[in-house]
Amino acid sequence: MIATETAVMAIVLLLGTAAEPATISTTPLGVTQSVGQQKDPSPDPEVEESTGRLPKGEEASPGEHLGANLAGSDTAGYTMHDFLEYSVKDIDAFWSNVWEAAGYTQPEVEYYFPTPGEVTDTSCGPSDDETAAYCPADDLITFSQAMAVKIWEGAAKTNTDANSTYPAGDFSVAYAIAHEYAHSLQDDLGIIQATSGQTRRFPIYKTELHADCWAGIWANSTFHKGTLEPGDIEEAVRTTMDLGSYDSSDDQFHGTPAQRRDAFLTGWNSGVASQCDRYLLVDH
Ligand SMILES: [Zn+2]
Repeated sequence: MIATETAVMAIVLLLGTAAEPATISTTPLGVTQSVGQQKDPSPDPEVEESTGRLPKGEEASPGEHLGANLAGSDTAGYTMHDFLEYSVKDIDAFWSNVWEAAGYTQPEVEYYFPTPGEVTDTSCGPSDDETAAYCPADDLITFSQAMAVKIWEGAAKTNTDANSTYPAGDFSVAYAIAHEYAHSLQDDLGIIQATSGQTRRFPIYKTELHADCWAGIWANSTFHKGTLEPGDIEEAVRTTMDLGSYDSSDDQFHGTPAQRRDAFLTGWNSGVASQCDRYLLVDH
């Protein structure tokens, strides 16, 4: 575990400059630094079927693809649970490399993907079919498979805007779980706290936009890895906007649709984690 003050100070010191994302490009803009170099996975990692601590260095099997179409005839038997697990392992492998390169202890987090109708208790409350959350007290990502389907189908929407012209899809779900994973990293760094009684270091909307930006950092890595499909980035952008809202007085305000989109695209366009510091340090 990294000392909280040191970690936050490190983020401040890494603060750099980045161009505002002016357009949604399907290739990242201005990538000058490669992060998350792939490495050989640890031999024989053990993973529990449904929940478990992510093994260090675990990566998805060769041939598995983020764009796997659940409805496709060649992916019979490939479930939403499989997709969520594939995604979280890919996200974990990427950030593990980034953390290692930065000299940090590799991140660890547990995950659980409840089946439709299943209720699981966490220290942050019971799950339901709408749950997509990270619970710091349990160091646990809980992502309901029913919610994943809803996001995949573009049916998860928290604003009253007209429907997006972009489709939702598999990468909508991948973005959402990358966002939750980013919260676990924030917890490791002391950006968010496990104890609810503590004073927040940052207002919620800042840590939410920062998590969107770090989801974009991971998305950038999938471009370089070659697992990104045409339309994937638009799918993620659609979802960032669908899950924005306008009531900044709400305790759970996560950012406006445009703010969430821009945060994701800042990560996508730069691929450099420190480019997301602005979302913690600057008022929006
Ligand atoms: Zn969040």
